[in-house]
Amino acid sequence: MYSERGGGGRGGGSKGEMGHVANPKKAQETLDKSKDSRSSSAPAPLPNIAKSSDVESDTDTEESNVSGSDEDDTCWISWFCNLRGNEFFCEVDEDYIQDDFNLCGLTNQIPYYDYALDLILDVESSMGDSSFTEEQNELVESAAELLYGLIHVRYILTVKGLTAMLEKYKNAEFGRCPRVHCCGQPCLPVGESDIPRQSTVKIYCPKCEDIYTPRSKFQESIDGAYFGTTFPHLFLMTYGHLKPQKNSQNYVPKVFGFKVHKP
Ligand SMILES: [Zn+2]
Repeated sequence: MYSERGGGGRGGGSKGEMGHVANPKKAQETLDKSKDSRSSSAPAPLPNIAKSSDVESDTDTEESNVSGSDEDDTCWISWFCNLRGNEFFCEVDEDYIQDDFNLCGLTNQIPYYDYALDLILDVESSMGDSSFTEEQNELVESAAELLYGLIHVRYILTVKGLTAMLEKYKNAEFGRCPRVHCCGQPCLPVGESDIPRQSTVKIYCPKCEDIYTPRSKFQESIDGAYFGTTFPHLFLMTYGHLKPQKNSQNYVPKVFGFKVHKP
């Protein structure tokens, strides 16, 4: 799906790098840049909204390419969730995103909030994002990723979100516990913090009740706040029958067959 869309995302040519933008550090840098540019030079978030159709940039070319019929089958949310490294995300219902109540408090946390929201919802922007510069597109895209992540962490605690994550869990899409005595127990994504850019996502094993680094280095760079500290535990409370028996088997270090005495 990703390859079908090629390098050109709807929001501009750099969307192919969203997997990297998912890196909290990178996102922070990008957003910090946006803050700097807003505070230092331009008071308006996106001053370059004026018509620039006479400027035939690369971005414009890609815009016109991707706004054709060949991309209509993939919405931004599906596209984003299918990016390499984004396998842990479920697709948030558009109805959920369109309900302002669910987005309460996010406006202040996201730069370019309106543009980011339009991007996520595939709203043909009346604000003329085709006139954005490449840099502005990148800012909006990383804002969209942050916004989607912060919506996602709320959504996966709802009934619909838990159901969507259940399907992924059944397919072991969050990976399996690397511990030998857990015998390939499927894991659940978890954040060590609910504040963005504090730490990357981890996987929680319900059997040994410990957390591990995801196997994929792409997943390893996803912000843990997009999954939050509550999710796996609420999930296992909701689907109690899925909670595995705690495994009491432990590895015993031996030397020549004798247990190693601890000092
Ligand atoms: Zn385990």
